[in-house]
Amino acid sequence: MTGLDTLRPRLPSPLQELSDARFGRRGLRLLLKRDDLIHPELIGNKWRKLAPNIEACGGRPLVTFGGAYSNHLRATAAAGRLLGLPTVGVVRGQELADRPLNASLARCAADGMRLHFVDRSTYRRKTEPDVLAGVLRAAGAEDAYVIPEGGSNAEAVRGCRALGEELRGQADVVALACGTGGTLAGLAAGLSPAQRALGIPVLKGGFLTAGIRALQQQSFGGPRGAWTLDERFHFGGYARVPTDLDAFAEDFEERHGVAVERLYVAKLLYGLVALTEEGAFPRGTTVACVITGRPWRSAGT
Ligand SMILES: *Cc1c(COP(=O)(O)O)cnc(C)c1O
Repeated sequence: MTGLDTLRPRLPSPLQELSDARFGRRGLRLLLKRDDLIHPELIGNKWRKLAPNIEACGGRPLVTFGGAYSNHLRATAAAGRLLGLPTVGVVRGQELADRPLNASLARCAADGMRLHFVDRSTYRRKTEPDVLAGVLRAAGAEDAYVIPEGGSNAEAVRGCRALGEELRGQADVVALACGTGGTLAGLAAGLSPAQRALGIPVLKGGFLTAGIRALQQQSFGGPRGAWTLDERFHFGGYARVPTDLDAFAEDFEERHGVAVERLYVAKLLYGLVALTEEGAFPRGTTVACVITGRPWRSAGT
């Protein structure tokens, strides 16, 4: 891991106990697993998922995929700058090519990522081999190492096993927000048999159980660990942040002095408070909550 070691990741990430009456009065202990502190630019699960891919790429350019506000695209672009690897970002939405870049894409470009815009129907079909080959050809990235949208391939999932291993013996339940579910698939595999993982999907659709099973099959050859999902806390879908969720997150920030990333982490924390109030966890349970990221503008960029 020579190149990556020079970036000095803070691993294992810190584990902090939080005193919060909403959990305390139910007899629960709440821990925060601060993956947001692993690295200032390769934040949280993005580090855990990208690191094994960077090792596997053998110095080839990295190409990956994302929407106009993708955390994964920004993390890949930052990795490219820090490690001197060329990166290409395939961005959903041909129409964006003719507009000024939004702040997220501008950050990617400033980090040296070459942006290649594709129309939405091509983007949807990007995992079909002939469509992918066409996109790579058009992007001038035929020799590149391809990381899928959201970064969740087998290398990434196996990389997230270390998150579970760091939490062995520390908690009964480990909760985290899920996009592709790659982090949960790896985390569950790293926990001890007495522990379980609880995922809060931030996308609407109810397709994630099958997706996580497929990721574990592809990464480990079969199911691993105990995990469940609670699909009730997506707040209408990806990137939807209604005012009540925003107010909840702001209140959490004031109580605890921890910046709350809105698209994933806020939904996780809200879900945990709701589950606690429903009595979902028996008294004496220790719940560890994975802080997978932070609001990116607070990174000083
Ligand atoms: C990318 C991301 C996730 C989702 O991770 P998956 O492995 O795709 O489930 C969760 N939290 C934050 C802050 C993220 O940026």
